[in-house]
Amino acid sequence: MLYDVVILGGGPAGLAAALALGRARKQVLLCDAGPRRNARAEHLHNFVTRDGATPDEFRRVAREQLRPYTSVVVQDVPVSGVTGARGAFHVTAGANLVEARRLLLCTGMIDEMLPLDGFREFWGYSVVQCPYCHGWEARDRPWGFLARAAHASHLPMFALQLRGWTRDVCVFTDGAFELPEPVQTQLLAAGLRIETAPIARLVGRDHRLEAVELSGGARVACELLFAHPPQHQIDLVRALGVALDSDGFVQVDPMSRQTSIPGVFAAGDLTSRMQAAIAAAASGVHAASMINVELMLS
Ligand SMILES: Cc1cc2nc3c(=O)[nH]c(=O)nc-3n(C[C@H](O)[C@H](O)[C@H](O)COP(=O)(O)OP(=O)(O)OC[C@H]3O[C@@H](n4cnc5c(N)ncnc54)[C@H](O)[C@@H]3O)c2cc1C
Repeated sequence: MLYDVVILGGGPAGLAAALALGRARKQVLLCDAGPRRNARAEHLHNFVTRDGATPDEFRRVAREQLRPYTSVVVQDVPVSGVTGARGAFHVTAGANLVEARRLLLCTGMIDEMLPLDGFREFWGYSVVQCPYCHGWEARDRPWGFLARAAHASHLPMFALQLRGWTRDVCVFTDGAFELPEPVQTQLLAAGLRIETAPIARLVGRDHRLEAVELSGGARVACELLFAHPPQHQIDLVRALGVALDSDGFVQVDPMSRQTSIPGVFAAGDLTSRMQAAIAAAASGVHAASMINVELMLS
């Protein structure tokens, strides 16, 4: 079967792209299987018209709304291999080999779990990355920010904004690096606390964080801990050989959203640190319309 576009990944980016391409009467195969970033999230927030929906409900409604566009086929299968070139890609989708004129990568990013006792257990529930997604529900509670040396440059910006949700914010460095003097002064002057001792473990029950236990045994009350663990691309994207930026995100042309490989486009989390469902969906629609234009010009 020859498709105009095979979309890899059926999260917000891939689903939004499928809708736009379906409405543009393109033959589309959307393949979705594999790790999902917000699999742990109980609710999806900050997506206008969908605020508070569960991630499953979001995907169910999106798929339902694709149904009238019969040129769009959705399959719960992983894409495990891609060969060929622009105009004639060969895609292994589940047990089938299909052909595609263009590819759209929407496979998201993989969050790496930090080697910290409790991190994996609480991740997605009360160890999270985005205050816009989780902040409102935990407003006025004790919060923490697990700072990492890799993000030292935007550390104050991120930490200071948290005061909009709660006045009780503690920055943890886990004994891993020293905050520059001016940063310490800035944070303390703004009413934040700083804990520099190594963290022994995260304490709580039923995925609800209660405290951060430091190496000396002291416990700092903390119900929501922000962390930005390293992320990486899925193996297939790495194997494709598309150019990545220094942070590991797929580089795309800002106008066309085409990657360094002609005919391969990308949208969503895998291209940006600005990671939110609505941003992913918007970039999916952007990529879809650029692919459509390109197909119609060729
Ligand atoms: C815990 C948590 C909570 C979050 N909460 C919110 C929130 O409340 N609001 C918000 O706006 N954002 C939230 N986010 C961020 C949001 O989930 C992401 O920005 C968004 O899901 C990115 O969409 P995407 O389509 O780029 O990628 P994803 O949603 O990660 O989707 C990628 C899809 O690709 C599929 N896939 C991977 N490999 C393959 C393959 N080889 N073949 C086929 N399919 C494949 C996966 O199964 C997955 O379905 C949260 C993130 C996390 C980690």
